[in-house]
Amino acid sequence: MTANSLQELYVEQLQDLYSAEEQIIKALPKMIEAAQSDELRSALKEHLEVTRKQASRVETICQELGEDAQNEKCKGMEGVLKEGSDLLKEVSKEVRDAAIIAAAQRVEHYEMAGYGTARTYATLLGFADAASMLEQTLEEEKEADQTLSELAEELNVEALKAGENTEEQEAEQGRNWGPRAKKSVARGKRAA
Ligand code: FE
Ligand code: ZN
Ligand code: FE
Repeated sequence: MTANSLQELYVEQLQDLYSAEEQIIKALPKMIEAAQSDELRSALKEHLEVTRKQASRVETICQELGEDAQNEKCKGMEGVLKEGSDLLKEVSKEVRDAAIIAAAQRVEHYEMAGYGTARTYATLLGFADAASMLEQTLEEEKEADQTLSELAEELNVEALKAGENTEEQEAEQGRNWGPRAKKSVARGKRAA
């Protein structure tokens, strides 16, 4: 579409956000299924419920403007989600939760950028109700990101320990091969 005014750009941004939310609603159940930690699973489940409300908020805002919410495909979110699902195929069980968090935080940050912009446009255009709805969503995305950061501190430590165990096993094997092999394992550890 060609957007000739701030309002048209605003509508385009809203449609893009709507598409992003719809894609997230489809992707989250797969992430929930892949998650191993109960805490991570329940945080993602909760955010799925929140996400459904966020999508309907954008729909309401579009309806009040007489615009169709379903008019864009958010290619950015498509890429972010694709990268996340590709990553999950590549990682071992030990680091899967850490990878889910890494992917989910990219999603939250991408949304935060979009909602911040849309909220500012709504304010400038004088749509106070829409601005406060968008602000509410922005706050929810920030909260989700914060929860993920807290979970990351726990779960990434577990992933780190899993890596150390693997290195210890390697070092043990290295010992059988003599001092040189042992040395190279130690170097690898320092670099990581
Ligand atoms: Fe969202
Ligand atoms: Zn987008
Ligand atoms: Fe979100």
